[in-house]
Amino acid sequence: MTAEISTPAPEDLWRQFAAICAIPHPSGHEEALREMLARQARDAGLAVRTDHAGNLRIDRPAAPGRENHPLILLQGHLDMVPQADAGTVFDFLHDPISTEIRDGWMSSTGNRTSLGADNGIGLATAMALLLDPALDAGPLALLATVQEETGMDGAFQVDPDFLECGLLLNLDTETEGEFCLGCAGGVRLEIRFRTDPVPCPAGLKGARIAVSGMKGGHSGTDIGLGRGNALSVLLDFLAGHHTCRIAELNGGSLDNAIPREAAALVAMPPDELPTLAAHAAEIARELRRKLDVFPDFAITVVPAGVPEKIWSKEAARRVIDALRHVPNGVLEYSEALQSTVTSSNLAVVQSLPDEVLARCLTRSFDDAKRNAAARDIALCCVRNGASVQSSDPYPGWIPQLEAGWLDRITAIYREMFSTEPNRMAVHAGLECGIFAAHHPGLNMLSIGPDIENPHSPSERVNIASVERFYRFLRRVLQESGLFYPTF
Ligand SMILES: [Zn+2]
Repeated sequence: MTAEISTPAPEDLWRQFAAICAIPHPSGHEEALREMLARQARDAGLAVRTDHAGNLRIDRPAAPGRENHPLILLQGHLDMVPQADAGTVFDFLHDPISTEIRDGWMSSTGNRTSLGADNGIGLATAMALLLDPALDAGPLALLATVQEETGMDGAFQVDPDFLECGLLLNLDTETEGEFCLGCAGGVRLEIRFRTDPVPCPAGLKGARIAVSGMKGGHSGTDIGLGRGNALSVLLDFLAGHHTCRIAELNGGSLDNAIPREAAALVAMPPDELPTLAAHAAEIARELRRKLDVFPDFAITVVPAGVPEKIWSKEAARRVIDALRHVPNGVLEYSEALQSTVTSSNLAVVQSLPDEVLARCLTRSFDDAKRNAAARDIALCCVRNGASVQSSDPYPGWIPQLEAGWLDRITAIYREMFSTEPNRMAVHAGLECGIFAAHHPGLNMLSIGPDIENPHSPSERVNIASVERFYRFLRRVLQESGLFYPTF
């Protein structure tokens, strides 16, 4: 029989996390949590600042004799994603999150709500270290941002003085042993084609062509998984069947999701439907071998009402030509980072009166590569008569694998755990990318313990992993003097 774990060590960290869970803190409602952390810091005599966005910075002076160490800035976000199970009534503005421990993992009680280990564990770890009188380290600070989960507003609006440090350690990675060293920036493109509708010629029959059963996923982190794009499948099919006159074309829903479904309303000669349906089934069989799709993946062709108007032949040719040839999917991959470097996702196509709207989200670690890919997409569409607008660019964070401080931290990890950390980068937006834009050349690393299913009621955090994370971070802070000559 093993003893029941009630309060796992390190106790200060878990006490901080319990206090965080007790205070509701969904995105946009971070004040109470911020005040709780600030109060503890003030009570301990630490300097506390808040910027106009609501971000919090706490500074702890160096221990005697360690004044010359570089300042290490621990960084996390205050807000959590409020998600409750379908059968659970829960008020995220008022109800505390209750927790339980099962099989070495902490989750919300009964998995009824998200836990907020993302990023509450990061904040709890930082607070436990800041408030530990026994910690013999150089100058140390915490930056806790607001509204990370809903658009990283806190990071975008952060007071640049709050980023002052020798090294920023972001605590928002969710896999133990990963050293995240880069993230992708992005830009959105909105593309409009005129469809020059004409009345549907007499004698044609209506049909609906639909692609379904694809896996989709996040358009950044999942873009390299070979799942295919429902819009691309449908566009390829239409390109091979010129007798289908298009009346409507729709697919995808969110800019940051790979389209799982797409459909077209078409008009065609009445005797062609069976041939078309058979051909669709044959192509679907082939794609099932090539792509990672669900077993029920299908391209179906079924009779539908005859559309009143259809796109002009020339307009249809332009739309299909352009959208089939825009750079799409993985555009560059890095073996060293085991990650996509540059990608684009044809995310949404939507039929509107007299025009069709397409949306792409193009990402890269390197802003110049992102801009080049976006320019290629725009050119390809403009040549086919479209108008293109780009919006909301956000910066990437380029991995600096050769940094001396990174070697030192890697050596500490290797010595403590007898294994190499996994140096990697995330093909999606992180707060560090925005910090890099505020402070080019800022030294940054993102780490964290094992957290599964964040942003969902099945979110859980591994107890032993949190404890190793805490010990590692503590050791890094204590040995930060060694990094100094490497900056
Ligand atoms: Zn997070």
